[in-house]
Amino acid sequence: MLESFTVRKTTQQEKADRIPYLTCSMLEAVNTCPKWGIIHSVQAKVFTVGYRQMALEAGSLMHEVFSVLNFYQVGAIQGLYQHMDHHAALLFTAERWETIKGDVFEKKLDDQRSLERLALRTIGSSDFYDDPEDKNRTLANLEHCALELINYWLMNMRDFNIYISDVDDPSAPIGIEQSLDVVFEIVDAGGECKDIRLIGLIDAVYQNPTTKNISTGEYKTASSMNDAWRDAFKTRHQITGYQAALAAYFDTSLITGNTILLGSAVPVRKTTAPVQHFTIERDAEHTRNFLNTCLFTQRIIDEYSDGADALEAPMFTHSCNRYFRPCSQLDLCASAFEDQAVMYEQMLTKPELSPSEVKAFLQNS
Ligand code: SF4
Repeated sequence: MLESFTVRKTTQQEKADRIPYLTCSMLEAVNTCPKWGIIHSVQAKVFTVGYRQMALEAGSLMHEVFSVLNFYQVGAIQGLYQHMDHHAALLFTAERWETIKGDVFEKKLDDQRSLERLALRTIGSSDFYDDPEDKNRTLANLEHCALELINYWLMNMRDFNIYISDVDDPSAPIGIEQSLDVVFEIVDAGGECKDIRLIGLIDAVYQNPTTKNISTGEYKTASSMNDAWRDAFKTRHQITGYQAALAAYFDTSLITGNTILLGSAVPVRKTTAPVQHFTIERDAEHTRNFLNTCLFTQRIIDEYSDGADALEAPMFTHSCNRYFRPCSQLDLCASAFEDQAVMYEQMLTKPELSPSEVKAFLQNS
């Protein structure tokens, strides 16, 4: 149980030593089912995947659109064109950013038409393609979703100022897709110390130009944004963890504890709001709950993540059929234990990191 904690940036030496880390995805996966979370998220082992993860692909592309709105905010509204250009080229690659940007800034169109062009070119220059099995997450629906997002953003969020660490240095960090790499130094009730390294990616960091106060922005897509969806963010650890990590980067007196959550429905439906935003507040009690969950999760990972030991990890079988689809490891878990070792050896280790890990490590390097 947590007694006290401090948080700091991960040192260069710790990064070079590749000390283990948690991401919020790992945290959620291990607590969904330890056996699944350790094999799938910590060890990154998969059976050959037979289907595309359309929700992830569509969400990732809409995150790119959200980032483009924020780059427009920096370049056209805050007037820091070079900052926009530098960081957008890093995020998208210089070639793709040139495609997205086109002649939008030379033509001096109004905000609406500029943003529509940027967003549609972001979608058009991506590698997303329609899946005949998925009638909801289609290119046409994502374009419709992007246009609704632009309308809403211009009405409600155009003045949300993106954090700029140095207005004179375009290469200095700005608050778009801001990577986090921190170590929480935790002391438990028995006086024992435990370090937890957390890696993450904040979609937006906002700074009030007058008070200098810092808030964060998170963008989410969902098939429907009902009250249950909205209420889930009252406790969501990802929001808490990112807010707690900010103390390693900013003066704590400037951190409001507020996250502005912006949600889009994919597809857009005629009967419900296509976009909404609301504020989520976090305090010390949330942070304590988050860190206790990290300690619990890290103990399970430490115990079971050494190779095939993962097969012995606790099985939370209430999670075997979630999100209307059987768990990708169901065949493994349903087999005799001696067969599981053979199946485990045949699993592939994903060469790539998750999108947030890639971006976080890219910015760390
Ligand atoms: S099949 Fe069930 S028990 Fe096995 S890893 Fe998946 S969720 Fe866990």
